[in-house]
Amino acid sequence: MSDAHEPLERRAEFRFYEELNDFLPARRQRRPFFHTFTGTPAVKDLIESLGVPHTEIDLILVGDEPVSFSHRIEGGERIAVFPVFERFDISPANRLRPRPLRRSRFVLDVHLGKLARLLRLAGIDCVYDKAFDDLDVIEMASSEKRTILSRDRALLKNGKVTHGYWVRATDPPGQLREIVEAFDLRRALSPFSRCMECNGRLRKADDADVMDQVPFAVLVAFDDFWRCESCGRVYWQGSHYATLAAILEEYSG
Ligand SMILES: [Zn+2]
Repeated sequence: MSDAHEPLERRAEFRFYEELNDFLPARRQRRPFFHTFTGTPAVKDLIESLGVPHTEIDLILVGDEPVSFSHRIEGGERIAVFPVFERFDISPANRLRPRPLRRSRFVLDVHLGKLARLLRLAGIDCVYDKAFDDLDVIEMASSEKRTILSRDRALLKNGKVTHGYWVRATDPPGQLREIVEAFDLRRALSPFSRCMECNGRLRKADDADVMDQVPFAVLVAFDDFWRCESCGRVYWQGSHYATLAAILEEYSG
């Protein structure tokens, strides 16, 4: 006999699809499994307790019914969880959030400074400030409608986050490739349109405009110069460009 004061153990069956499996241990990946809990928690809390941030999720089915994040789980349900960037055709009415923000603008957490520079080099709008704490990142995301990029799952689990993405790769070039793939940014890439340092817009500049800022050898060796409208920094197709070109070449084939 169980003690009447002992909380009743309940269990439900979960199945996670596509890249949501990245958050699960191997034994739970790509297969149904049972999860035990007490009380009647919201489905969002159960899913996050399994390690998957809610920002990664676009659709939750309990049985055949789409449910909201706050839907209570009582035990015995079969729960299927689909990612934001899934490739299945799901009718828009069922989705938990608006489609991924189409104008791809990002705010990066404090650990992703190198990725921020690469994304800007590729022309993608990225706010990054090494002085930002988690709350600054979240506020920036909501006030400017930006998607948060982070390697910190705890940050993405914050209830105020609506659009976020957990960056899997650990090396900056791999992270750039991953973001271009995940957000389908190939057509948005526009090298030499954004300042690596401040995210400002770059504008084409004449030799005469930049000669006081650029070493003479550079002035002779390069034909094209750009100036940041915000901070005034001058760019030319130097070593950064070779790095970027090598990465982007993979997408042009
Ligand atoms: Zn700048």
